[in-house]
Amino acid sequence: MAHNPLAPEWLSPPADANTLIDGLWPASAHRANDGAITIGGVSAPDLAARFGTPLYVIDETDARSRAAELRAAFDAEFARIGTTVKVYYAAKAFLSTEVARWMVDAGLNIDVCSGGELAVALAAGVAPGRIGFHGNNKSLAEIDDATRLGVGTIIIDSPIEITRVAAAAARHGAVQNVRLRVNSGVHAHTHEFLATSHEDQKFGVVFEDAPALVAAIRAEPSLNFLGLHCHIGSQIFGVDGFAESASRLLSLQADLLATGPVPELNLGGGFGIAYTSVDDPTPVRQLAAGLADIVAAECASRGIPVPVIAIEPGRVIVGPAGVTLYEVGTTKPVQVGENTRLYVSIDGGMSDNARPALYGAEFSVRIADRVSAADAALVRVAGKHCESGDIVVDADYLPGDVAPGDLVMVPATGAYCWSLASNYNYLGRPAVVAVVDGEARVIVRGETIDDLLARDTGISRSAHGVSTSSTSGEGSTSTTSEDVKETTR
Ligand SMILES: *Cc1c(COP(=O)(O)O)cnc(C)c1O
Repeated sequence: MAHNPLAPEWLSPPADANTLIDGLWPASAHRANDGAITIGGVSAPDLAARFGTPLYVIDETDARSRAAELRAAFDAEFARIGTTVKVYYAAKAFLSTEVARWMVDAGLNIDVCSGGELAVALAAGVAPGRIGFHGNNKSLAEIDDATRLGVGTIIIDSPIEITRVAAAAARHGAVQNVRLRVNSGVHAHTHEFLATSHEDQKFGVVFEDAPALVAAIRAEPSLNFLGLHCHIGSQIFGVDGFAESASRLLSLQADLLATGPVPELNLGGGFGIAYTSVDDPTPVRQLAAGLADIVAAECASRGIPVPVIAIEPGRVIVGPAGVTLYEVGTTKPVQVGENTRLYVSIDGGMSDNARPALYGAEFSVRIADRVSAADAALVRVAGKHCESGDIVVDADYLPGDVAPGDLVMVPATGAYCWSLASNYNYLGRPAVVAVVDGEARVIVRGETIDDLLARDTGISRSAHGVSTSSTSGEGSTSTTSEDVKETTR
């Protein structure tokens, strides 16, 4: 079919708008003989019937394998240059106790950045020593808990935190391992990176201030300085941005080694994934190899030992393993000049996927319960919220007969969708279901109307007569109509 001029330049009409594009979907996703998309051996219509929509679906095997493969790739490439790697899973991408356990099973540690994330990791049984604690404004209570519970490393983000963490550790008779987050001056997004001498941002300390701050850390008997930390951004393709940042950090490392030990270097996370047909992320093995080469070369040229390396990926592990399943409620062709855009409205939106509204992020979409031979049409998948920016997929092609009642799936929603979900317009946040070997199980249940009303102190227990939330299957513990009758009588 012809290119619709309303489509963005990068989006070409597909040969077949039913095809699941390579690299966007969980490893097990495919179309079964009946045309339905199947993930982890469970078909989209089955998932919708059992758990309702919208629904987050995670391919458990895929998430576990991505974690294990990433770790194996970095282990192998850094063994080649004579060192080891600690991999921390960035929990903010997606965190539940199940997922934390998958990561620990794969040999990863866990990064958290709030007392809430810490509580989930601990509830999952993660050993405190495997946890890293981030954040530019950790509360005194969070710092106290972290030092008392024996959290493995605290990433110091400002001069003020040095004395706060030192005092808390001293109170608990502990020696706390800490890293110092430094702005390397490199800021990266997808293909480009920007290198400045001074960054105007809230995270980390100014590069030039690091030697004095490390001296202050070393002077605290209750702190043990592990090394520097930097994180240059997210959804980054290629090695260049990481290489530039590592090179700058290693020059600082060489200076710091003149006055004391610096056993580790944390290069952060940010490895990109594919959201659309034109995204071409760097394979993890290639990233690991490129990073190992630059670290080896920089250390050799400065005559310093290769440190133990730490990395903190989130998105690249869980992003591609997750999809969101929706039901189409309305469709509406909108004429724009000579051309038509088909608006397809689904039963979720910016409350379950804030990334398009927040970052202008692109996503892709496919009909999930059937294939169609209809000509492809340019669609925009819109949510049901009272906000014109409530778009989940700005532009893609779907079979032109897409209609109310169809199920659609948006791939690559495993990271930064559920974790950024909100209750805007009082929609309940959807359930999360893990699929593996033909089995589906709820790992986080969906919110019900009762959940939404529970915190409002102005409502008497029996005043609402509203039926359940849209997530009415096993994914939620919904109020039955019997309950409603009972309470509204
Ligand atoms: C968000 C974040 C990460 C993970 O980023 P991804 O893009 O998900 O890999 C790692 N480190 C820090 C400090 C972060 O804030």
